[in-house]
Amino acid sequence: MQNKKAIIAIDGHSSCGKSTVAKDLAKELGYVYIDTGAMYRTVTLFAMRQQLIKDGKIDEAALENNLTEIHISFKYQPEEKKNETFLNGESVEEEIRGLEVSNNVSAISAIGFVRRRLVELQQEMGHEGGIVMDGRDIGTVVFPDADLKLFMTASAEIRAQRRYDELTAKGEQVDFDAILENVKQRDHLDSTRDESPLKQADDAVVLDNSHLNKEQQLEWIIDVLKERNLA
Ligand code: C5P
Repeated sequence: MQNKKAIIAIDGHSSCGKSTVAKDLAKELGYVYIDTGAMYRTVTLFAMRQQLIKDGKIDEAALENNLTEIHISFKYQPEEKKNETFLNGESVEEEIRGLEVSNNVSAISAIGFVRRRLVELQQEMGHEGGIVMDGRDIGTVVFPDADLKLFMTASAEIRAQRRYDELTAKGEQVDFDAILENVKQRDHLDSTRDESPLKQADDAVVLDNSHLNKEQQLEWIIDVLKERNLA
């Protein structure tokens, strides 16, 4: 018997399976899953489409002026059993996962006004509890009082291999070394930026899933939740 509708924050490095765990956990608990990375990716796609990123340089003034034009929403698609991300009513789920968005997202997510806007939206989405939210700053900035904070990690090579498998399964032609480079580059940018850098909250529980499968990691988290009377 669950005691309360908890807030579960999952942070960690790029491509270490946070969203898989978060989705599985939300399903198990009957909670809502919120993918905050998808929100940063959607803002990035918007900026790319408006040609506000040129050779890695962002026209911040124009982006700030256009920020209120960006409406992000999620819908659960039961047939495909997956969440779909929408930008101003258009599904952008596939596009935001591509390498071009991945290569630009860290620069967009380092901008203070982008973070402030998205954090505000995330706090609104989650304030009633009953959510599993994944990202980089959920336990440190968005919900510092979350009931459970998980910090996930795995080796860069294992994460790149997972990402490679995921993209090739979708039929994308990708180069393993380019993905590994992107994973390492994002780790570096995400951990060293001035605005809310990726770091483990003092009270987070660390989950290194380099050698755990989907079922084992879910079981591991459910045990932690049971110890805290949250499941
Ligand atoms: O989780 P995902 O890899 O899709 O996130 C894409 C990028 O969005 C990250 O590399 C990071 O730069 C940014 N991000 C962030 N804060 C979050 C979630 C994602 O800065 N809460």
